[in-house]
Amino acid sequence: MSAARPGGDPYARDRERMVDEQLVRRGITDTHVLEAMRRVPRHLFVDEALRSRAHGDHPLPIGEEQTISQPYIVGLMTSLLDASRDVKVLEIGTGSGYQTAVLAEIVRRVCSIERLPRLAQRARGVLEALGYANVWIRVANGALGWIDEAPFDRILVAAGGPRVPPPLFDQLAEGGRMVLPVGDDEGQVLTVVEKVSGQMVTTPHGDCRFVRLVGKYAWET
Ligand code: SAH
Repeated sequence: MSAARPGGDPYARDRERMVDEQLVRRGITDTHVLEAMRRVPRHLFVDEALRSRAHGDHPLPIGEEQTISQPYIVGLMTSLLDASRDVKVLEIGTGSGYQTAVLAEIVRRVCSIERLPRLAQRARGVLEALGYANVWIRVANGALGWIDEAPFDRILVAAGGPRVPPPLFDQLAEGGRMVLPVGDDEGQVLTVVEKVSGQMVTTPHGDCRFVRLVGKYAWET
């Protein structure tokens, strides 16, 4: 039973409205995703000064020239990932840690890689304070994957590169699924990659715009 405590969670109604208007109305039906996004306190993943805008239909700056993804994009990518409790996920581009928390609500274990130490450290702090015990964050080039933890049932990449980084496909389990934006600064296509009998099967899911995936196997300049 859940009863709204007066003053208990001042943002619960904002989250309800965000989920109804930005996700459900645009066709996202996965109840695990909708419930996770109703639960995760998105306002805690942005600066205090931006909290009143935390549930708006847009990305927001999180420092270091990076952004927290628009709620719809988080919902869409998470539902395309088609994840359940028994899977292990690799996430590339921890950023604020918001997408990480949404995944942690749904799956068994989340390994998340961020290249910028300050963002990784802040995300770690927020996720720890919220009590997520199934999340591991490391600072590295995520396009290289996380060899010690491979294979992964699911991989979600929250930054855009010119192609599927080969190490990530190598570290995807047979029958596994990866969701990532592929393209350049002009535009990217949200792409689902599946490993079927060792082969790469890709399905496009519309245009999107993410910050650059930086480093070897991505944008090297
Ligand atoms: N899902 C995050 C989005 C973060 S934006 C959120 O909602 O907060 C994308 C992040 O990818 C940025 O923090 C950026 O620093 C990171 N990034 C870019 N290239 C990377 C790489 N090669 N490896 C790991 N992280 C990378």
